[in-house]
Amino acid sequence: MSDSSCQHRPLNAGNSVSSFNPGTGRSPDDWLVVYFERYPVATAREGRALKHPGDAKGENWTPEPSDEDEGQGRSDWRSRLAGVNGDTGERMSKPGKKKAKNQARRANSKFASHNISMLDHHQRVGSKLIPPLAQLPKMATSSWVDHHMPEMLWAVLLAGTMERRHYLNCLRRIAVVCREWFLKSDQTADAEDEAEAAGDTEAGLDFKVIVDHTKLAEISDQEFKKFLSVPLSHPLGYAALRPLLLLDCLPGHERWRRELAVEPTIDDWNTLARSVAGVLDHQSEASTDIRWFKVILPIISGRMFFPASAAESLEDLRLFPDKGDMRRVRPFIRSAEMTMRRNPPSLWADEFWSLAMRSTGCLDPSEGQGYTFIDTHIDPDSLYAARDEVVERFRRSISPERVDPRLDSAFGLALYALSVLEEVGMHRIHTRIIGVVSLRALAEVCITLRYLAHVDTPPLWQSYRVYGAGQAKLAFLKIQQTLGDLPAFVDEAAIHAIANEDVWQEFLNIDVGHWANSNLRKLATECGAKDIYDRYYDWSSGFMHGNWAAVRDTNFVTCHNALHRLHRVPRMAHRPLPSVEPDCAELVNGLLGVLEKLYPSAEAIPRVALLNAKQGVAPS
Ligand SMILES: [Zn+2]
Repeated sequence: MSDSSCQHRPLNAGNSVSSFNPGTGRSPDDWLVVYFERYPVATAREGRALKHPGDAKGENWTPEPSDEDEGQGRSDWRSRLAGVNGDTGERMSKPGKKKAKNQARRANSKFASHNISMLDHHQRVGSKLIPPLAQLPKMATSSWVDHHMPEMLWAVLLAGTMERRHYLNCLRRIAVVCREWFLKSDQTADAEDEAEAAGDTEAGLDFKVIVDHTKLAEISDQEFKKFLSVPLSHPLGYAALRPLLLLDCLPGHERWRRELAVEPTIDDWNTLARSVAGVLDHQSEASTDIRWFKVILPIISGRMFFPASAAESLEDLRLFPDKGDMRRVRPFIRSAEMTMRRNPPSLWADEFWSLAMRSTGCLDPSEGQGYTFIDTHIDPDSLYAARDEVVERFRRSISPERVDPRLDSAFGLALYALSVLEEVGMHRIHTRIIGVVSLRALAEVCITLRYLAHVDTPPLWQSYRVYGAGQAKLAFLKIQQTLGDLPAFVDEAAIHAIANEDVWQEFLNIDVGHWANSNLRKLATECGAKDIYDRYYDWSSGFMHGNWAAVRDTNFVTCHNALHRLHRVPRMAHRPLPSVEPDCAELVNGLLGVLEKLYPSAEAIPRVALLNAKQGVAPS
């Protein structure tokens, strides 16, 4: 980015940044003191502008919950929603079933303090779990970034270019200048009252008291000049606002050109991008400051009235950001601002984003990153010692029966799991997509053995085995009807041999359902392995199935050009993931413990250990 923001017109050279004072010599907040003294906020028309049905006096006015507001200090909207669906709606658990216990949240989560609806707050409708806010009737969403931030680009640019106290002073001064645009004569107010009483207006807060680009294109030249004189009196005023001239789609573009009378440079895109980066988050400091400006204007214009009980909140707004608990004030500002947005939003915002995309290139933060392969931390000695002992124990446990499904299946699953873990380490795939797929396979293997061991009846061990043989027969029969070359991975002879190993396939049933006539979640719950299912199954399954989240996580990166609204660009090399080795080793070690219980011996099976790893693997 170039340092274009430091340029300003020679005429302003006398203004040094430190001496800048947008007011008239008063302290920055004096002007608002004057306005609040002159126009007390609680007046005889108290409550008139607060049109919430059933709240004529506005005494119970609270910010509405918003789709995007995650503020810490807002009131507990969940409890307020209780009356919407909570009493009648079906929650996570189906009617008649035991209600699921509210599980405590993990205290050491990075998100522990976030206001998040947990699963038991969701309402189950068919196969969908609906979060509380989405249960609100006629809930409409509104996007700050997409539609309402572009309307305030002039303020965004001031915030992106000037020091905070300077741009806040500019906004205060502009609020004073623009206030008179919105002051209503008593006749106008009375006419509106009558129209409202006659039901001509929609209920709700519907102010058009916004100094946004649409409004700025509608005012007179004289008013525009007066508005513009405030930011231009700052040494960085021209540099800050010049990027607006790049935007042909800006309402009143010609007048902006005429009044600024400077030529934009290609670097002004950088200024614009840097400024927009500061407000992409609707809760950022700059976003909240600009949203405060939108809120304060209707208040000082006499368009918004509060009951006397709101005096403290108004005082916080007046002295923002120096008074009040910001954990309460900032969410209050954001919620109030949402009630004052243009509805429907202006169409030109879409043109702005389209122009920004066409005119600027992507910034790929992964550019130049190649593949990195990290050596395994699996201790090979421990892994092979475990395998040797499993094989040894199998030999000691061989029974005279020709087919022993319990022995074969239990030891076979343990060996299979050890093989998967060995390949994870051997091929250094523990930070790769295939590593996660392996973890998913291991989770299923573990739950399967835990369930078999939990029930531990000959018919179930038999069922597991017969099901597998039937699957081999099914594959074999399909292969016989395959036209052309067989898929390269198919070993036809091996499949035929397995299908016919225990019983001639002509006597072997094919089970097209689940081998235990259940599903993995139920098996896990029944055998006490639900923790494995919950910890490992959901996220890793996404990698197995190529779900969007896994695709996004591994092969896309967020473009760093703020003017592209955080869209995704493909990575040249897919990203390394956190290693699956600690989890894989833990699962395998747990599985070895199950095997030890099924086939006890004086010798313990050695556990797989990790070398030089932060997280050691404790024997289970
Ligand atoms: Zn981009």
